[in-house]
Amino acid sequence: MRPSTMTHCRACGSDRMFLFLPMGDHPPANMFVRPEQADQPQPAFPLNTQACLDCGMIQVADQIPDGFFRHYLYIPSGAATMHGHFEGLAGVLADRADGGLIVDIGCNDGLMLGFANRMGAKTLGIDPAANLAEKAAQNGVEVHVAYFSPETAGEVRAKHGPAQVISTTNTLNHIGDLVGFVDGIKRLLADDGWFVIEVPWGREIVATNQFDNVYHEHLSEMSLRSLVKLAERTGMAVVDVTRHPVHGGSMRVFIRKAEAAGPPSAEVVRMLAEEDAAGMNDQATFESFAARAHDIGEALRKILADLKAEGATIAGYGAPAKGNTLLNFFDIGPETLDYLVDRNPLKQGLLSPGKQIPIHDPAVLADDPPDYLLVLAWNFFDEIRGQLSAYEADGGRFILPLPYPHIVI
Ligand code: ZN
Repeated sequence: MRPSTMTHCRACGSDRMFLFLPMGDHPPANMFVRPEQADQPQPAFPLNTQACLDCGMIQVADQIPDGFFRHYLYIPSGAATMHGHFEGLAGVLADRADGGLIVDIGCNDGLMLGFANRMGAKTLGIDPAANLAEKAAQNGVEVHVAYFSPETAGEVRAKHGPAQVISTTNTLNHIGDLVGFVDGIKRLLADDGWFVIEVPWGREIVATNQFDNVYHEHLSEMSLRSLVKLAERTGMAVVDVTRHPVHGGSMRVFIRKAEAAGPPSAEVVRMLAEEDAAGMNDQATFESFAARAHDIGEALRKILADLKAEGATIAGYGAPAKGNTLLNFFDIGPETLDYLVDRNPLKQGLLSPGKQIPIHDPAVLADDPPDYLLVLAWNFFDEIRGQLSAYEADGGRFILPLPYPHIVI
């Protein structure tokens, strides 16, 4: 068994780890269950949320056995919000690559690289999920099917030459061995190249109570300081950063080899100061975050219980990994939510991990609309609300769990 708590920060190496939010045993948040397997025991692991008091990174121990994610269910192309976002990112990367190779690690179904290809860029994806690589190939994106490692980096460099840009969106937060990962980056990256990371920004996660961002596959919720320190440890340097609204508030961080780096931009300095001001290195900040998470659970359960007592019907919108953290932590299951709907066809017909709530196509909402929809994919609420204007016009109501539970009026 791998240990369920960490003694050292995986970004900066500090041993000042503070366990602030133990959430109990959870199955992997993307391990959806086939109905015929509902009676079989599912593996579950403690979700012990810790913070590093030297760099502010929130993290959980890497406990899930290797090979769990060869058939991965998250496909971002479903959300229209992400199309525009990835098109913008592709433009930025194509610009920096200036005709050189762009390698996207964790390329998923190739949505972002497809945009880059259409801009005339030279691209290659790396992803361990063979089923997604097939989808990427249909989008005209070449994928090297593998987990990224220094060995993979060497193979790719031998075959394709050095990368001018290496990007990775919402992938670094899934990586257990960050130092090994960055060693691989250095091996594949041209000496004057760019390593571009996009992940949710830890300061936003704390400020808006996003404890649901924590699950076993999301090993780390990164602060900018954690990436600055990780880069320093590995002979690289953070040179710039930009902010983006996706996934509850993300940062796009630009890293170069130390020799090519130069001084950090004013925005890097500003965001680090904001992290300090938010107390991202203080134990009290995380104690207060944990207390708010428990309060949110109580408030949400009360809203749902009151509605059920009135005879209301409730379903959930979205079956994202974060929703599974929330449902399992707050012990909300099929006794409360009749079903979940999700636009990802791969999830439809399955049961949610842990609580085993059936997942349907959103089309069911038109046939027999529930009185209330608990929006588990709250980070796409504007888009969801736009799609469900008829549901709302007919009297359907939304419940948002975060930043604080409320019924949307
Ligand atoms: Zn740290």
